[in-house]
Amino acid sequence: MAGILFIISAPSGSGKSTLVSELRKQVGGIDFAISWTTRAPRGSEMDGREYHFTTREEFQSMAEAGMFLEYAEVFGNYYGTARLSYDDALAAGHDLMLDIDVQGAAQVRAKMPEAVCIFVMPPNPKVLRTRLRNRSRAEGVMNESELYRRLSEASREIEKYREYGYILINDVLDRAVAQLEAIVLAERFYRNGEPIPFRSRRTLEVAAACLQTNSQERLKPVLEAFGIEGDPSRQQLLFGGDADDD
Ligand code: ADP
Ligand code: 5GP
Repeated sequence: MAGILFIISAPSGSGKSTLVSELRKQVGGIDFAISWTTRAPRGSEMDGREYHFTTREEFQSMAEAGMFLEYAEVFGNYYGTARLSYDDALAAGHDLMLDIDVQGAAQVRAKMPEAVCIFVMPPNPKVLRTRLRNRSRAEGVMNESELYRRLSEASREIEKYREYGYILINDVLDRAVAQLEAIVLAERFYRNGEPIPFRSRRTLEVAAACLQTNSQERLKPVLEAFGIEGDPSRQQLLFGGDADDD
């Protein structure tokens, strides 16, 4: 495809949808694939806007008919990207962003190794727990078992960070949005020679600092907090009962 394929993955609740929606307001020329899912709509989600909501039966027939570029089972539901989303972006010469989990990302990378892969992390488990809780409250649903299921998967997903070229630590939202925007603009500049609208040197520096290969120092405390690398005594409780975020 003439456009660039971006893949963004993150543990649930890290703020990926928030980042992508801010990016959409600020950067044009990028299509966002609307996935198919068998999970029920959440909060104010609308069919055809956040997701195409469907049944397991319909999803399975679509999968058997080869209609998905990738699909995976995540938290007990199926999620998949329609081939059509990719074909449409290809035909229009647009960039395309896929918001998919680590399993789906691996499937797409195997077919399209040129994809630009971005992994979003929360700064630590406590912040992740708070964000998941706040989102549930805002949506008027408080499903603790679903929340724990998503939290318990977080470390396993974060372990896959090495498969991603860029790492974003979503601590301060404005900074993470600026970093995501810089990555998109820098890739357009390097791959297509597209000029960067303003402050080009700074943009390239911000993007370069997010390369996984340049992120070891930033990553260290996050990986330790999730018990993935480093000193185990610095691991923070995923399911801890601190009252400060309740
Ligand atoms: P994801 O798409 O990764 O599952 P969301 O974008 O739904 O996560 O974000 C989860 C919750 O965290 C939402 O309530 C969102 O408003 C909040 N959030 C996202 N990014 C930040 C941030 N940098 N600081 C504080 N809250 C955030
Ligand atoms: P949520 O239920 O919170 O919207 O999404 C749960 C997880 O499913 C997230 O990690 C999200 O990235 C992932 N996901 C959403 N759409 C797709 C998709 O089309 N394919 C795959 N593999 N994962 C998806």
